[in-house]
Amino acid sequence: MTTLVMKFGGTSVGSADALRQAAAIVLDQAHSWERPVAVVSAMSGVTDALAQGALSAASGDESVYRSVVADLRVRHYRVVDELLEANGERAALLATVDEFLDEFASFCHSVHVLGEVTPSAMDAITSLGERINARVLAALLRQSGARSEAVDATDLIITDGTFQNAVPLMEASRAATASRLAPLLDDGVIPVVTGFFGAAESGATTTLGRGGSDYSAAILGDCLDADEVWIWTDVDGVMTADPRIVPGAQVIPSLSYGEVSELAYFGAKVLHPRTIRPVVERGIPLWVKNTFNPGFPGTRIDREAQNTPATVKAVTAIEGLSLVTVEGRGMMGVPGIAARTFSAVASQGASVLMISQSSSEQSICFVIPTTAVRPVIAAIESELALELARGDVDRVWSMDEVVIVTAVGAGMRTTPGVAARVFGALGQGDINVIAIAQGSSDCSVSFVVAADACAEAVQQIHMEVIVNDRYSP
Ligand code: ADP
Ligand code: ASP
Ligand code: MG
Repeated sequence: MTTLVMKFGGTSVGSADALRQAAAIVLDQAHSWERPVAVVSAMSGVTDALAQGALSAASGDESVYRSVVADLRVRHYRVVDELLEANGERAALLATVDEFLDEFASFCHSVHVLGEVTPSAMDAITSLGERINARVLAALLRQSGARSEAVDATDLIITDGTFQNAVPLMEASRAATASRLAPLLDDGVIPVVTGFFGAAESGATTTLGRGGSDYSAAILGDCLDADEVWIWTDVDGVMTADPRIVPGAQVIPSLSYGEVSELAYFGAKVLHPRTIRPVVERGIPLWVKNTFNPGFPGTRIDREAQNTPATVKAVTAIEGLSLVTVEGRGMMGVPGIAARTFSAVASQGASVLMISQSSSEQSICFVIPTTAVRPVIAAIESELALELARGDVDRVWSMDEVVIVTAVGAGMRTTPGVAARVFGALGQGDINVIAIAQGSSDCSVSFVVAADACAEAVQQIHMEVIVNDRYSP
């Protein structure tokens, strides 16, 4: 049995034209695969609008969510009216859109009354865009003559219950998927599954993090032992850089799981950072393709990349970061300072993106999201209060408005000269490197630069290293 899981991102299902295109792709692939499964995002911008409505309700303003309801009703009605013939099916779908939007309004009203939006309420609220869109695509497929049914991923992906950033429990998800999806597939029905969320064992909706529909597709691919997982998006594949920063960025035909993991982790929005984990375990090939250019092959991601190793293949950047430094001339003599520093960071739930070498040996530097800086510094100061009083540690401070730029390519670190060329390119551009990463992956080199040098650093590496590598004989 051949199984294909295909995910359509927000732009790929964000208008009547896009949905028509997505439906055509599903129907086309249904000729080639015995068990095709579609996973859909909300229409582009919908998740943001739902979240915004909830947040402003929490801060006392009920007007925002009311206007979101009105806007989303118009947007979904227009799409449904344009796509579906006027019959009972269309009327039922419009009634469903209303039900979900009413649910949204009543959630927001409760949030307003309580004066806060809990992570669990936020997950229930932000899941509504996918719930609507799965029903729209399934109806469109049925109108085109296919058998299709919308399935809420709360029935399939069982999670650890962490709101906003849930992790799937794979055994439970496998069992749920087998009992809910397999009968549909055996029956020749094309399931259209909601991306972005699953449910805790209690049944509560838990989202997988923003951009999580890619991850949903990979989880389902694993649960179904899919032959391939395809991510349909709005660019031709994974590119040498974010095309919004580097207009000359090019599609990379083949990448390894390791390379793509580094790219996604260090900011390439094209894939959710956790997408690779489920497919890597089963060695399922992952493709990134363009909904609006379906004839183009896109990027294939597999165990091994099929092109030249030891070259820089892509460059990416992650913004909104701060570099925190713990420094003091007496601190290196004190055992356990690093361990205590990082446990203080962890106590605030902050994720450390990079630990870096600075020019001074008497310091520990690391990069965290700027939003976490205040509580993290306070936690470190309290953990190291004695050392600060004694003068072993002089101060804990942060440099804000920095970015991490990462150059990615398998074999980079172990091949002499590759990192040197990256830094040479930055030197040529007169870009100051604030810190360099100490990571373990052989697929990447990361460094910190000031936020206002970000675009230039990315462009410089792209021009001097990547483009040159691609065109050298
Ligand atoms: P979707 O809604 O389909 O999930 P996203 O907006 O989440 O789409 O991701 C696709 C976008 O990722 C592209 O439009 C592009 O702007 C951005 N992007 C950033 N870095 C890269 C990269 N290296 N390759 C391709 N796209 C990238
Ligand atoms: N709709 C969700 C988001 O905007 C999930 C996704 O599109 O992948 O974050
Ligand atoms: Mg995305």
